Amino acid sequence: MSVLEIRDLHVTVETEDGTTPILNGVDLTIRTGETHAIMGPNGSGKSTLAYTIAGHPKYTVTSGSISLDGENVLEMTVDERARAGLFLAMQYPVEIPGVTVTNFLRTAKTAIDGEAPAIRTWTKDVKSAMKNLRMDPKFAARNVNEGFSGGEKKRHEILQLELLKPAIAVLDETDSGLDVDALKIVSEGVNRAKGETDLGVLLITHYTRILKYIKPDFVHVMVAGRIAEEGGPELAERLENEGYDRFLEPFADEI
Ligand code: ADP
Ligand code: MG
Ligand code: MG
Repeated sequence: MSVLEIRDLHVTVETEDGTTPILNGVDLTIRTGETHAIMGPNGSGKSTLAYTIAGHPKYTVTSGSISLDGENVLEMTVDERARAGLFLAMQYPVEIPGVTVTNFLRTAKTAIDGEAPAIRTWTKDVKSAMKNLRMDPKFAARNVNEGFSGGEKKRHEILQLELLKPAIAVLDETDSGLDVDALKIVSEGVNRAKGETDLGVLLITHYTRILKYIKPDFVHVMVAGRIAEEGGPELAERLENEGYDRFLEPFADEI
């Protein structure tokens, strides 16, 4: 049982215009076994929250806290966060020229577990995870994200999730750019990971579509760097019908 606690989180980013506040007091608690969806309009700070949890150097925490099982996440390096059980599937996964999928996965697994995985079970695990995600075995020899289609990038993120077995996974728009078939395959992967390891999931999405396949226990609406409303799955249904206009009205002057 793990718990990720985010308290009154304020985050800024450096831009040409100076220091810009992006997150303005985010509170969120995610336990293993729970699935939380964060929804919200473009530019509301969803990816910033994901990057801040993962430890991206561009984002500065000016106040508030993030802890995992009581340990201060903000004092951890990116590697330490991964070893502690945090995983981020990025909205825009980056290319790693010269590093094959096989080597990348093995290196990540070794770094996280503190020892190399036993070769026979590992090879079997990788093959079976790739098969489940309907990935061509040839894929394993390709360089990470180099020339991958949008859908291949997302499958590769979920492949990592299934093999690295984190405690809490942040999935940033894993649904974006996927057709219905790919969306189902990716969602099944997330659900398998949830079933196998009691994973806690923070699912960031702009659309309600993926929530038909990955059922959230809690839905949070992020607007202008804050959680504007929280509820159960019924809140996602309301957003599907009403959109985000109701939440954006108070900010009409600023937009
Ligand atoms: P979302 O994921 O909800 O669409 P983001 O977190 O990507 O929102 O962005 C929130 C706001 O912060 C936007 O106005 C965006 O332009 C700004 N922002 C985020 N990251 C950066 C960055 N690295 N440099 C400059 N501005 C950024
Ligand atoms: Mg966006
Ligand atoms: Mg985003």
